[in-house]
Amino acid sequence: MSLIYKGARIIDPGSGFDGQADLLVENGKIARRGTADESWQAAGEEDVSGLLIFPGLVDLHTHLREPGGEHRETIATGMAAAMRGGYTTIFAMPNTDPPVDNPPLVEFVRAQARKAGGITVEPIAAITKGRKGQELSPMGQLAKAGVKILSDDGSTVANARLLRLAMQYAAMFQLVISEHCEDANLAQGGAMNEGVTATKLGLSPLPALAEEVIVARDLLLARETGCRLHLAHLSTKGSVELLRRAKERGVKVTAEVTPQHLLLTEEAVRGYDPNMKVNPPLRSEQDRQALLAALADGTIDCIATDHAPWARQEKEVEFDAAPCGMVGLETALSAVWTKLVETGQISAARAIEAMSAKPCQIAGIPGGRLDEGAKADFVIFDPKCSWQVDPEKFASKGKNTPFSGWELQGRVIRTAAAGEVVYRLEN
Ligand SMILES: [Zn+2]
Repeated sequence: MSLIYKGARIIDPGSGFDGQADLLVENGKIARRGTADESWQAAGEEDVSGLLIFPGLVDLHTHLREPGGEHRETIATGMAAAMRGGYTTIFAMPNTDPPVDNPPLVEFVRAQARKAGGITVEPIAAITKGRKGQELSPMGQLAKAGVKILSDDGSTVANARLLRLAMQYAAMFQLVISEHCEDANLAQGGAMNEGVTATKLGLSPLPALAEEVIVARDLLLARETGCRLHLAHLSTKGSVELLRRAKERGVKVTAEVTPQHLLLTEEAVRGYDPNMKVNPPLRSEQDRQALLAALADGTIDCIATDHAPWARQEKEVEFDAAPCGMVGLETALSAVWTKLVETGQISAARAIEAMSAKPCQIAGIPGGRLDEGAKADFVIFDPKCSWQVDPEKFASKGKNTPFSGWELQGRVIRTAAAGEVVYRLEN
């Protein structure tokens, strides 16, 4: 199969290209990029002028809930949501039931993904057995099984001695440790960001410090062990400052931020909508500005969704009692595009880099670029298409979005993985 896509603007930060060009897609790869002439042979061609093409998005932080939470999401429904959002590779967090902490479970996730088909699911495995924080998972075997990232996401590895050991092994096996930074004692009982708004709303406070003390500890451990540390869903100004200083000193650290922490603040909690409850919590405007500046200048490397679906009956309870989490795969790109790119706060190239090339580099996988020879994982995006977020139309089982009803500008109209169109927007 071969096809020429003609006349789109191709934004490909991974190869440093941004401009109008034609693409020849052949045998699942980008065979040519440039101006089509007689030497380009293809079975067909398609005019995509006025549209954008960029690399398929890559999410380092998705909760697919399977095994054990299939009423919230399955690997198949999560993948369908990802395809609608323009993602061609998603990294699945291991906080399932049972937690993914051994090679057979890694293989189970891969097999379910193959069965569903379409895009790639990369299982993340737990740092500690059962995510209990007491004993290390078989890290060497997990590395051998092709795992790239380990995380106990949902909680921090509280025991610094154990995490130090994990980092020593991770450095040896070239694994990335992705840490959910939250001191359980400081965070205990917290429902929203600590501050005046929490006091006014009468909700229990979760201080920024709960994140920052763990960020500081982990940066010290990473510096000592030489481990590649990835900080998940950073949410505070103080964390950004610690990260910036550590990078200046050469610590092998990378970080992600979510669209919700870039676009919303604690003010969104005023209506006590449980869909605004997330961990880490939505923070202050000052924190949000710091995250945005850090994303723009590259201190924060990438955007990850922390897609966390919940069943309706679980989320539709009082704010205090509701579980933390928001879905994000189907809105991340359009929300970032509308609120950050269209408004000139970050460039289109930086936004796309943060959602494709950067996550690939962090995980050490190929992809995130569309130059000749690259796998044809790409998105066709219509920057003029506006749409309203309606969770009832999501492919995800989770309807718990903070962006319900938002008018967004720009939409994925097609997602292709290895040259095959796996999602097409129906009008
Ligand atoms: Zn987390």
